[in-house]
Amino acid sequence: MRRRKIPLRKCVACQETKSKKELIRVVRTPEGEIMIDVTGKKSGRGAYLCGNVACFELAKKSRALDRSLKASVGLEVYEQLAQDFIRVEDEFLAQRETGMDDEE
Ligand SMILES: [Zn+2]
Repeated sequence: MRRRKIPLRKCVACQETKSKKELIRVVRTPEGEIMIDVTGKKSGRGAYLCGNVACFELAKKSRALDRSLKASVGLEVYEQLAQDFIRVEDEFLAQRETGMDDEE
């Protein structure tokens, strides 16, 4: 395995610093849309959450996303994100279990 500097990001919910691979990125696009960015490459203001629903729920409760994205995140947006998050979480965990590494 090649070694390279692992970019670290902080989860906005639990404040833990982890590698980008362990976090899920939520982005506010220049159009003002808030969505989960699976690729991590969308432009816009991003916030990171651990790849588990617990941190998502924590972010929802503490409105951490609102602060990080500097936008008011409506409840319906959180609902939508929650659904996407659960879907992404499955893929996310499956990917980690198989140890698959996406070559950049
Ligand atoms: Zn977290």
